[in-house]
Amino acid sequence: MSRELGIQAIYLASSVLFILGLKSLTRPAFARRGMQQAAVGMLLAIVGTLFQQEIIRFDWIAGGLILGTVIGYPLGMFVPMTAMPQRIAISHLFGALAATLVGVAEYWHGGHGSTIGHGQMAALGFEVLFGALTVTGSFMAFGKLQEFITGTPVTYRGQNAINLALFAVTFGLFGYLIFFPTATFLFYLMIALALCIGVLMVLPIGGADMPVVVSLLNSYAGLASSATGFAIGNNVLIIAGALDGASGFLLSVIMSKAMNRSFGNVLFGAFGTPQVAAGAKTAEGLTVRSVSAEDAAMRLGYASKVIFVPGYGMAVAQAQHQVRELAELIEKKGGEVKFAIHPVAGRMPGHMNVLLAEADVPYDKLYDMDAINSAFPETDVAVVIGANDVVNPAARNDPKSPIYGMPILDVDKAKSVIVLKRSMNPGFAGIENELFYNDRTSMLFGDAKASLSKLVSEVKAL
Ligand code: NDP
Repeated sequence: MSRELGIQAIYLASSVLFILGLKSLTRPAFARRGMQQAAVGMLLAIVGTLFQQEIIRFDWIAGGLILGTVIGYPLGMFVPMTAMPQRIAISHLFGALAATLVGVAEYWHGGHGSTIGHGQMAALGFEVLFGALTVTGSFMAFGKLQEFITGTPVTYRGQNAINLALFAVTFGLFGYLIFFPTATFLFYLMIALALCIGVLMVLPIGGADMPVVVSLLNSYAGLASSATGFAIGNNVLIIAGALDGASGFLLSVIMSKAMNRSFGNVLFGAFGTPQVAAGAKTAEGLTVRSVSAEDAAMRLGYASKVIFVPGYGMAVAQAQHQVRELAELIEKKGGEVKFAIHPVAGRMPGHMNVLLAEADVPYDKLYDMDAINSAFPETDVAVVIGANDVVNPAARNDPKSPIYGMPILDVDKAKSVIVLKRSMNPGFAGIENELFYNDRTSMLFGDAKASLSKLVSEVKAL
């Protein structure tokens, strides 16, 4: 078997593993296996590439491997789950930077376009264009999520027109370069403009919508990598990039849908301002009932049907282990416990699933919104753990609400509701939640982890 054939066989195995990995990731029970399959796929892709005949020196590769490990290990091991969206943004930045630099190197290698054909230039131009705008776009997303850049949308007159004009000029340059690859100045001008597009594109988007943007940038980074594959003739890069591009795009669309936001609105609507949104109901004159941990524990200890509804606050408090402990105690006392998972609870898709899996909550106790909503009317106690928007009945009842139309968990239909949160502060959408003023709702104020720990000891003592 020739070396080239061997490399292509390794690439094929690697691509199959990527696809199997993605498939496994569609079910929480197999998600861990999916990550392992994809990781082995990536290892094979690297090994296959190291067999390439063009590689004559390994010292730079070893240096890169060490640098990558030094940066990647802490990113993977020590970044808390709550900071995952910005961590993902920074990963896209690295991926896109790699694609852009490979593109520039290839351009140099090809005598600044003199030995580059039109087809290869199309791939190369696409790669650096999308790569460069993803670099700065991801940096802006990272900054907004990490809050060293303002999270509120930055808008000015004629913003969309300016952005569209910039897009048109940059794509015009891209088109020109396909036919005249030796226009070196224009090649670098296109990269500079793409870097500006990344900044200007993300500027008007609120920090709140950033996860959708991060997912879209994921798609761009994938497309840039796929184009890199075409430019340098590497099949595994073409396939992995295309998988990344398609899955990132689909995820952005799914997230927009689950938030009841049109894709165009996310990109151009300047949504996500944290103040109370115009038109939303306020809570003047309504009363809130608070409950002590002892009373709440009494209700939970003697309930026969309980549904836990985790949200972003559970992630902030890192309360997943206490949630599992409480669920087990209720079950020991003869109650039935289910977990209701909203598709956009938390700050990234699957956020709640990951946390609950980490705490060893069995997968068969997790129910998607559509599967669990009909169970709320028969539920004795629904326990809302740091969730807010995903249980806000305004999404059903108030056409003026900014979240009107978003599918929610029907917690307000349960026989009684206990809400664990620290204050009456709003959630991500910045709006009041009438559930908290409902006759059947009791508020257990405090950090979710502390409140759950109290509940655990109170239920134990019953
Ligand atoms: P929300 O952001 O609506 O609410 C979280 C609540 O948690 C807050 O009201 C806060 O209240 C409470 N909280 C925060 N810290 C703690 C703590 N330590 N202990 C107890 N409570 C705490 O969360 P949801 O999960 O309900 O909704 C997610 C929102 O994020 C949706 O609007 C969704 O559209 C959006 N989103 C989700 C994405 C995803 O992929 N999952 C992506 C993009 C956006 P208090 O401060 O009073 O404690």
